[in-house]
Amino acid sequence: MQYIVLDMEWNQPWPGTRDAMQTLKSPIHGEIIQIGAVRVGEDQSVQDEFQVLIRPKYYRRLNRKIVKLTGIKDSDLKENGVPFPEAVRQFRKWCGEDIVFLTWGFDDIRILKENLRLFELETKWTDRWFNAQMIFNAQTDGSTTQKALKTAMELMNIEASRPAHDALGDAYHTALVCSRLNLAEGLRNYAKAVEKHENGFQSVMPPDCLERRVLKGYADRAQALEAMKGRENLCPKCGGLLKAQRWIPQTQHRYMARVSCPKCGGFLVRIRLQTMEDGTVRAGRLVYTGDSEAAKSYDRQTEKQRTNRRRHTTRRRRPAGDKK
Ligand SMILES: [Zn+2]
Repeated sequence: MQYIVLDMEWNQPWPGTRDAMQTLKSPIHGEIIQIGAVRVGEDQSVQDEFQVLIRPKYYRRLNRKIVKLTGIKDSDLKENGVPFPEAVRQFRKWCGEDIVFLTWGFDDIRILKENLRLFELETKWTDRWFNAQMIFNAQTDGSTTQKALKTAMELMNIEASRPAHDALGDAYHTALVCSRLNLAEGLRNYAKAVEKHENGFQSVMPPDCLERRVLKGYADRAQALEAMKGRENLCPKCGGLLKAQRWIPQTQHRYMARVSCPKCGGFLVRIRLQTMEDGTVRAGRLVYTGDSEAAKSYDRQTEKQRTNRRRHTTRRRRPAGDKK
């Protein structure tokens, strides 16, 4: 048996474009544009590598965020990409038989299956897969958070030697992390690890998100909010308490704030409160990088509120001036 550490990059259409409006016969959360993979032997040695670029069929224009994140341009895919079915053929040939997939997170396999379905290709060969994050958590700090690959590498003192947000680069780094875990044991105890993990996450993890957690069982929203603003407001890197700027309420019991750790710097935290069927409240918490889109959106919202307040004050002052 061999482990195939898999990572992919995918494209999402820019909202409102024609690409985004089309109805696909089978829904996808993104169209795969790059597959990267690294083979890890049963002895956990890091072996050969695979990489292929894919010319997109449905979302033909690359989203500018994806271009910025991955460095992949439309022209790269046009010149060097192959159609998805051909990429899958090459990939499966390289993988060989008796394989187990390891991915960092739940997203990659889900997106792969969606794309295979859309192209009416077989999906059974992807059924044996494991989220290495779960094994990592079970064998390190026992936490139930989904850590960014970068965080896991830092915790293991692995220096980045390949570009990030490149499918092969990320697969290679994931393989280095995996080679230091006890994979056989991880697979044996996987069901337990996943059970331990709060599996309330259905959506794809945003690219500049560092951590996400779900905390359950609060008596009401006020209690949940107090915990999220206080003792649960922890740094994704060192676990220390974060200091928040103003929490801005959003729609549907969501809140966001810029936060900072004296050691690790600034982040953006988003929380969402949900009342469950049994009446208890669940809090979902996402931590983004300080320069993420989420953080910029926070800045825009605070700026807007400041301008509104200023305008409001000026308006109120004017009548007093008129009387003079
Ligand atoms: Zn910190």
